Amino acid sequence: MRVTFVAEAYESLGIEYLSSSLKNAGHFVSLVYDPKLFYDAFCRISWINKKYFSENTLIDRIAATAPDIVAFSVMSETFNWSRDIAAKVKDRLNTPIIFGGIHATTCPEQVLEEECIDIVCIGEGEAAFVELANRFDRLHRINLQGIKNLFFKSNSEIIRNPAGFILDDLDKLANPDKQLFIHEAPHMAKRYYIMTSRGCPYTCSFCYNSTLEDKKKYIRKRSVANVIGELKWALKSGIRYSYVIFGDDTFIQNKKWLSDFLEVYRIEINKPFVCAVHPRQLDRDTLNLLKISGCTDIEIGIQTLNQSIRSNVLNRPESNEEIMRAMKLVKESGIRLIVDHIGGLPGESIEDYEKAVVEYKRYRPNFIAFFWLAFYPKTKILKNCCKSNILSENALEGIYRGKGIDGKGGYNIVRMEYVGFEFIFALIPILPDFILRIIIKHKLYRLIKKRMVGMMVIFPRLIRSIIDLNFNPFFRHISRYADFFYYMHINTKRKDKIL
Ligand code: SF4
Repeated sequence: MRVTFVAEAYESLGIEYLSSSLKNAGHFVSLVYDPKLFYDAFCRISWINKKYFSENTLIDRIAATAPDIVAFSVMSETFNWSRDIAAKVKDRLNTPIIFGGIHATTCPEQVLEEECIDIVCIGEGEAAFVELANRFDRLHRINLQGIKNLFFKSNSEIIRNPAGFILDDLDKLANPDKQLFIHEAPHMAKRYYIMTSRGCPYTCSFCYNSTLEDKKKYIRKRSVANVIGELKWALKSGIRYSYVIFGDDTFIQNKKWLSDFLEVYRIEINKPFVCAVHPRQLDRDTLNLLKISGCTDIEIGIQTLNQSIRSNVLNRPESNEEIMRAMKLVKESGIRLIVDHIGGLPGESIEDYEKAVVEYKRYRPNFIAFFWLAFYPKTKILKNCCKSNILSENALEGIYRGKGIDGKGGYNIVRMEYVGFEFIFALIPILPDFILRIIIKHKLYRLIKKRMVGMMVIFPRLIRSIIDLNFNPFFRHISRYADFFYYMHINTKRKDKIL
């Protein structure tokens, strides 16, 4: 079977795993990639991307792969775009279309109501997709009956096969097909994105993890040998990465595993790496171990410094003391500290933002990634906000249908009264104490009444990255660095008349 994946803007480890599973089973896989150059939630310069990637060009490229099926892995934010492309593919090629990914998993029924979408894969898709491809016969028919994790339409009726494929042993997965994305975007080879586990033990109310019921069965860890084997295999197969991103939700959860792993990693891989951790898991010994093993950046989800809101609204159990201690320990270790902070939480006041500036000023994270609260299907916070009428029926409908709260694909609510803090938070790592004190004392954040994304988000991050001589945070959060490389890459290709 010939499978064509369509993806936008970022490397997708999910697609890479599906691709390697399909290839190992003897199928052909292609990727058509739209980098969404300089066009995402942070930066919207539409002409650059359109110059190289009009929708018609994309459909031509999909058609050129002669697919038997076209596949999309969607988050809520990418659903609108993916559905539009899928509709055009359907018009032109009339091939079956399958959607998977978080959004399709949380609202399969609504996704299948879209005329152009034939099949939805819920949950992990490797086994289901291979089974689907294996059943594709010479007459181009696929019998989908009984394939676990698949919902599909048959004579306008939705058939719901049972959910079931959850791989117990992650070591059984083939190495992800990294070349699929690297072929499209060679700059991706500079860093190696890998996950050593699946699942997270926490249930933060805003996160997809809060939608899972029997959470324990989703939490799995790969063996040390398997992870090291993949990192060595990548080097041997010519991916000359210079640092590693461990994309696990909580990389240091299992301390025994971590210690065993890092001991081998130091000897056999020895590359700088970045990871995300939960503040409760940090202690001095672990940080020392991470530091001597090459860890350069640690990302911690703090979200708010109002403990009551963090506990009651976000369902995060850690205390403010634990958070302060975690920030202090990371700073003392010499590892760069990145914190995630969510704005626009229900019940917040201006004092919460002022307090956050004071506390962050004390610990000076190297980078504060500020996000406005986003509402995703089936999350606990969505249910609670609907109960308390913070979200309307229309907004809820838009969220489940992939149209977002505003009908245009936006899932967060920007609170204009706090918008100045988006800028201040971005500047905390670089502004001297006395200026921050003056800003808070005279409430100068009120002068900023409009979101100027370039000034508020990109410029301070760029300055910070230059000061640190470290582009990782810039790269990881807003992809402008990646955009730049991609822009250069397609320009070169254009000159060579390859495009
Ligand atoms: S710790 Fe992170 S990944 Fe885990 S539930 Fe919370 S937000 Fe989600």
